[in-house]
Amino acid sequence: MPDKNIPIDLKKLSFSDSVSYYFDKAAPFTGAPQGLLDQIKTCNSIYKMNFPVKYGNEVRVIEAYRVQHSHHRMPTKGGIRYSMQVDQDEVMALAALMTYKCALVDVPFGGAKGGIKISPRQTSPEILENITRRYTTELVKKNFIGPGIDVPAPDYGTGEREMAWILDTYVTLNPGEINGYGCVTGKPISQNGIHGRTEATGRGVVYALNEICSFKDDMKDIGLETGLEGKRVIVQGLGNVGYHTARIIAKYGAKVIAIAEADGAVYDENGIDIDDLYKYRQEKKSVKGYGKGKVIADSASALELECDILIPAALERQITEKNAPRIKAKIIAEAANGPVTPAAEKILLKKGVMIIPDIFINAGGVTVSYFEWLKNLSHVRFGRMQKRWEEKHQTGFIKLVEELTGKTVPKARIESLIHGADEIDLVNSGLEDTMIEAYRDIREFKKRRKSEIDLRTAAFAVSINKIKNSYYAMGIFP
Ligand code: NAD
Repeated sequence: MPDKNIPIDLKKLSFSDSVSYYFDKAAPFTGAPQGLLDQIKTCNSIYKMNFPVKYGNEVRVIEAYRVQHSHHRMPTKGGIRYSMQVDQDEVMALAALMTYKCALVDVPFGGAKGGIKISPRQTSPEILENITRRYTTELVKKNFIGPGIDVPAPDYGTGEREMAWILDTYVTLNPGEINGYGCVTGKPISQNGIHGRTEATGRGVVYALNEICSFKDDMKDIGLETGLEGKRVIVQGLGNVGYHTARIIAKYGAKVIAIAEADGAVYDENGIDIDDLYKYRQEKKSVKGYGKGKVIADSASALELECDILIPAALERQITEKNAPRIKAKIIAEAANGPVTPAAEKILLKKGVMIIPDIFINAGGVTVSYFEWLKNLSHVRFGRMQKRWEEKHQTGFIKLVEELTGKTVPKARIESLIHGADEIDLVNSGLEDTMIEAYRDIREFKKRRKSEIDLRTAAFAVSINKIKNSYYAMGIFP
């Protein structure tokens, strides 16, 4: 436990210390006893592994981790990251964020995270497959993976392909396990994945921002109009989360004026064509040379441009005490995990910036992963049992209305009214409901406090309270 009498130097906090700092800031608003707070905050299991992998004629030792932060709910859940930045502190921080995130959005999992210290862009698919399969085997050996134990998902540097390798390795090592498909989420549809998972985090960010921007008083406080229509947006990172966030927010009428990638940023005051830029980057492996708008070589400086909403969707610690004073956004939506450091947050809050915390705004991914896990355990696609029944029932209802009124409902209208819910409709509806409800909980909590607390503190407090209640229900703490 840190000594409360020694002032904390925010600039020196590691990533996992930062998460603990936010936890400590929120803890007094929960009324939980210290012993319980200590239990909630501590990291339950850390598995660090090293294993050899062949790179052509040489053998390299790979460093990897799986951290299960909290077992108050099982299984534990969290993505797997491939990056050269991976270390124990980072994985611990990300696992802890998963615990608070899951509790906040009522996803019944404990938090976990995995990481492999490799550069996916500089590693051939064959070697990546070997590493992924070996990593999964190590997890199986130590009982660190399974539909009721710990369920990985994609994160930075990983996607459907890696999840498919994990699944295949797991089911090979566990023949006949009826729920084996639930050992990992974010799988391809053909391997029992779920429609809408790939874009879920980005879609969740937009559903949340749409809700946040609908409150007139809150928007007035930061000098903005309600609604996403016309809002000027900057997104950092054009990977899974950044691309889908940018693409979907543009559909809501917002104008994405800058996209900052690792090797440069693209700026266009008229709004960027997201799919066009994405396609260009996929082909050229860079945003450099993109012909439309202006390419800015110093990517980080794009975060400091004038805008309404800044969405960091790349990595942690992108907004620090160094660039925070120059940030002009009114809202920062933490689509990435931990993009704003505590030292930066202090500066930004003083400037009146509304910071939407990661544990809430990027929870769409784990929410839809939960739906995928449920689908795997129930062995049936959402919508399969009721879609036709709904359509027949609704057709009958429209016929009755026509008979009673003597009027004919136009064909196009009938089609939209009778449409039974497909899997994607149900997934998006469940995701939207989750993001709206969670934001209302956080906002209500913040409003109820007489002292001014920020949204992150409110989100942590709501989350800690939910975890506290599950410990009380177990009778572990009096
Ligand atoms: P990704 O690997 O698909 O994309 C990340 C992108 O960020 C890449 O295009 C990369 O080139 C870019 N990038 C890296 N450094 C950069 C820099 N300094 N400036 C600008 N761009 C940079 O990863 P992702 O899955 O989109 O994850 C991004 C963030 O979102 C991570 O913090 C992750 O933990 C978080 N997150 C992801 C999910 C998910 O479902 N994938 C869910 C919740 C949170």
